Amino acid sequence: MEKPAVITESLGVERAEAAGGAHAAEVHDQPGSLSSADRRWRRVVGHVTAPEPGPTLFVVGGLHGNEPAGLLGLERVFARLGEVGLARGEFIGLAGNLEALTAGRRFVEEDLNRIWLPPRIAALRDGEPVSVEERELRQLDEQLRGTLARARGEVYALDLHTISGPGPAFVVIDDTLLNRRFANRFPVPLVLGLDEELSGTMAHHLTAEGVIPVGFEAGQHDEPEAVERAEAAIWIALEAAGLLADGHAEFAAARRRLETESRDLPIVVEVRYRHAITPADGFRSEPGLISFQPVRNGARLATDRAGDVRSPLAGLVLMPLYQDQGEEGFFLVDPVRPFWLRLSERLRPWRLERFLHWLPGVNRHPEQASAFIIDRRIARWEALQLFHLLGFRRRGAAERYLVMARRRQGPR
Ligand SMILES: [Zn+2]
Repeated sequence: MEKPAVITESLGVERAEAAGGAHAAEVHDQPGSLSSADRRWRRVVGHVTAPEPGPTLFVVGGLHGNEPAGLLGLERVFARLGEVGLARGEFIGLAGNLEALTAGRRFVEEDLNRIWLPPRIAALRDGEPVSVEERELRQLDEQLRGTLARARGEVYALDLHTISGPGPAFVVIDDTLLNRRFANRFPVPLVLGLDEELSGTMAHHLTAEGVIPVGFEAGQHDEPEAVERAEAAIWIALEAAGLLADGHAEFAAARRRLETESRDLPIVVEVRYRHAITPADGFRSEPGLISFQPVRNGARLATDRAGDVRSPLAGLVLMPLYQDQGEEGFFLVDPVRPFWLRLSERLRPWRLERFLHWLPGVNRHPEQASAFIIDRRIARWEALQLFHLLGFRRRGAAERYLVMARRRQGPR
């Protein structure tokens, strides 16, 4: 099937596909610098369509404006693809929060990775944006819808981030089996359960749209290695999505690049605790904490206005905050035994949720299909674990009740 010859971006920039079925690569040719404040990014960093139809890879870098490493990685990959091309399908790379990238800040008015909520997206499609980030959200949503409308096969997504503290790369997913399968292709630790702690993320919206997204954390904001890791992640995503020819040299090098650093790290971890903060807390991490570093119960991890902030349990610290903006001071995670992962993969197709309301303290949600209300005073702890194994995540919580809902598990 023929691809349209010209793809018109929402910003009015036209990218022509070269005649005769050659690859079209558009690269913005500016000097690479980790400090983003001295340059202006354009929404579309690059866009390549192979003559042969196939799956789509949708990549966003800089959803947080102080995290330009992913965009620099994208530039490198597009530059290389201008020479070697794609075997099939379509690859588009976008800049996330343009205003915040220019300012070199995580966000200007609100976190662009917390506002992908269905009512807000719906309102933006008809009405006017009320914040800087809503304007960004609307443009990204237009790009996404255009990409989905053009797609001829599976759509994969890669959401590139960096963190304020030091540490190795890792991947984050909304826990569906398809997302897990994609995430397993990246030879770095997989973090499960973050999706339960955060709402309004782009990844959650993408999963709900039937896209298969993985979030990739490439390291610390300003280290050059973060660009290398982000570039490696993009090559791996291109390969995993099926867009590269077999035996691609960049893919092999990318795997080696990430494998070497991850050798001594757990393969899968699960979030046990999120330390939520507000700007009023005056939260300051202890110096020297590194992601995946073991901490004991009671260890001092930070200080805030109330005094010492101590670890409420033993585990591995993840993403200790070393910047002003952010809603989490740190997370604590635990390795997950492979046995539980295999068990959960086997259990999910059985649709055991048909019987979950038989458990004590568990009731079907009166309005939401495939959601359950759990009475914490009655339900046993094992019931919650069972929900997790079956792919359910906490959707809301009051003092006594939890709402557990299941991610969309199927393809588009
Ligand atoms: Zn980020």
